[in-house]
Amino acid sequence: MKKYNPYDNFLETIEAAAGILGLKKPDYEAIKYPERELKVAIPVEMDDGSVKVFEGYRVQHSSTRGPCKGGIRYHPDVDIDEVKALAAWMTFKCAVVNIPYGGSKGAVNVDPQQVSKKELKRLTRRYTAMILPLIGPERDIPAPDMNTNEEIMGWIMDTYSMFKGYTVSGVVTGKPVGIGGSVGRSTATGRGVMLVTKEILHRIGIPVYDTTVAIQGAGKVGGVAARLLHKEGMKIIALSDISGGVLNKRGLDIPKIMDFVDGGGLLSEYKNGDFEYITNEELITCDAYVLIPAAMENQLNEKLAKTIKAKVIVEGANGPTTVEADRILNEQGVVIVPDILANAGGVIVSYFEWVQNIQSLTWDFDEVNRTLEKIIIRAFNQVWEKMHAKGSTMRMGAYMVALERLADAKRIRGIFP
Ligand code: GLU
Repeated sequence: MKKYNPYDNFLETIEAAAGILGLKKPDYEAIKYPERELKVAIPVEMDDGSVKVFEGYRVQHSSTRGPCKGGIRYHPDVDIDEVKALAAWMTFKCAVVNIPYGGSKGAVNVDPQQVSKKELKRLTRRYTAMILPLIGPERDIPAPDMNTNEEIMGWIMDTYSMFKGYTVSGVVTGKPVGIGGSVGRSTATGRGVMLVTKEILHRIGIPVYDTTVAIQGAGKVGGVAARLLHKEGMKIIALSDISGGVLNKRGLDIPKIMDFVDGGGLLSEYKNGDFEYITNEELITCDAYVLIPAAMENQLNEKLAKTIKAKVIVEGANGPTTVEADRILNEQGVVIVPDILANAGGVIVSYFEWVQNIQSLTWDFDEVNRTLEKIIIRAFNQVWEKMHAKGSTMRMGAYMVALERLADAKRIRGIFP
């Protein structure tokens, strides 16, 4: 197996989409390159008086359709290729759901479990100071991603505002509601996953009620999706986190399990009730009709793809399926709702948050959820139509819808100078 490079994965996908659309090279050449890549060294005074230097990045892939938009992830294994791919996926995600943003992503090479809260705060503030020239409500707007949360977004907002000398709430999204965050933002990605899961089942004529689901990831995306899909009557038979998972073919008691997880528990230590322990690989290949990978990239690989039994995959994570695995799954007739559509709920509600900040007004929960549903289902329809028109997969349909919008915007703006 060749070394996995998510940016190559991205390039292969857009070449394929451009090929089906019959785009000429000049129409999309620029989209293959990130506009800017910043790498920073972040010195942090540790609690014991020592100094540790962490590596950080901010990549702006595209600002063609509006300000760059994308989360910040804290993870010990991030590298520049991953951040570049994640930034590019944001560009396509915002384009496919037609919100007026480009794409970006940031990351810091840190394991948040290995540093204290005070160290994490100093690291976040220093990282913010170092990417300060790139960010701003009209430039590039960070948000939470893997291992970052509302509190961290609050520190970023405060740091940026201190430099400016006045409060700039629109510089980040996913903030606490008390300082300009939006209601419904923290559950938005999971809610989007729930909405597209119901929609895809509806399209292929499968009832929602009692259909089996396996979800990899019990956090902001997988955990929320599990709760919401359970409420909709689906049978969640398997759920996992980094420690492993639990399975019960007759359905798990999701509210009970999620209360345990939300309280900080690891699933490998969960004891309450009727289930068996499984590994993450066993979850991916278990006998559920719908599989929702909602953890890391590169989880559904060539090796596992052949043994996947699910008929429908809804990509809650960014880039969970490698190009090779995608090919195998398509040959096996598995329907895949691609990440740039399936997990767009988060950035859609980030957009609402930014709009509320700019206008200095607030929406209620109902308005947020209603508008989220309208936007994500509209995008689903457009992808579905494109897929049928071109006889392609849903992933290609999504990339084609996004690429057409991007190429169009590029053509209208022209190339400077
Ligand atoms: N990190 C999330 C994503 O990958 C949300 C980004 C945002 O809200 O800007 O879509």
